[in-house]
Amino acid sequence: MRHQPASGAASGPQCDSPGLRHHVLFAEADPARRHSLYRAYLRPWLDRPNLTVLTGALVHRVVFDGRRATGVEILLRLRSADPLAPLAIEAGFLSDPADMTTARACVELCRALGNAPAFRPFVRGEAMPGPLKGDALDLYIRDAAVTYWHQSCTARMGRDKMSVVDATLKAYGVDGLRVADASIMPRVTTGNTQAPCAIIGERAAGMIRQEHGA
Ligand SMILES: Cc1cc2nc3c(=O)[nH]c(=O)nc-3n(C[C@H](O)[C@H](O)[C@H](O)COP(=O)(O)OP(=O)(O)OC[C@H]3O[C@@H](n4cnc5c(N)ncnc54)[C@H](O)[C@@H]3O)c2cc1C
Repeated sequence: MRHQPASGAASGPQCDSPGLRHHVLFAEADPARRHSLYRAYLRPWLDRPNLTVLTGALVHRVVFDGRRATGVEILLRLRSADPLAPLAIEAGFLSDPADMTTARACVELCRALGNAPAFRPFVRGEAMPGPLKGDALDLYIRDAAVTYWHQSCTARMGRDKMSVVDATLKAYGVDGLRVADASIMPRVTTGNTQAPCAIIGERAAGMIRQEHGA
């Protein structure tokens, strides 16, 4: 589950408490109501002796005994001597030149469409970015681009060479390691990603319970 600042995030005012992000499933009957996955899935089990919840801990690497994953090594990376200061996050957005090439092409295509004669009856004019080129266009893109918050698919489920987990969420070539989050999606869902993440978690729990007879 995602950590969410108490305020200041794009959906901050809609989140009803600090700490673990309160993930959202929209109910048709009451569109304003948000449901907390933390409350539904985690809080009821917090007193279990075999459950430890660590916040503010950055997993540095998975620890192996041979091929078997036995634990994780935690690295605490602080911004300052103040232990309560937020951790530094380096997302590396647009650090791959191919992503900038794609983003430039995307902006140029959108400008061409928006400025096309066929749209003239419907638009008053281009608001941004205008005819920027080169570094100015790159700067605009770096400043304006957002992820739409649906990062996923970096450890996708499948059977080809690029797949990381099998149909039971087990990582290929590693014993004792399952991945259960948005990263296993073979491709990003067309709708929002939180509900699929909840289902991935539920399926993982069911498969682990079945395998270990709990
Ligand atoms: C601002 C925002 C708004 C969103 N709004 C919606 C919405 O309204 N509806 C919707 O359906 N979806 C929404 N999403 C998308 C949804 O929140 C995500 O798809 C979903 O949370 C992904 O779940 P996950 O478990 O894969 O990853 P996350 O929820 O990101 O959980 C990953 C967790 O792992 C931790 N972590 C990562 N790396 C390490 C490490 N090395 N060591 C230790 N911990 C680590 C992170 O701190 C985090 O707690 C939103 C996303 C954002 C960012």
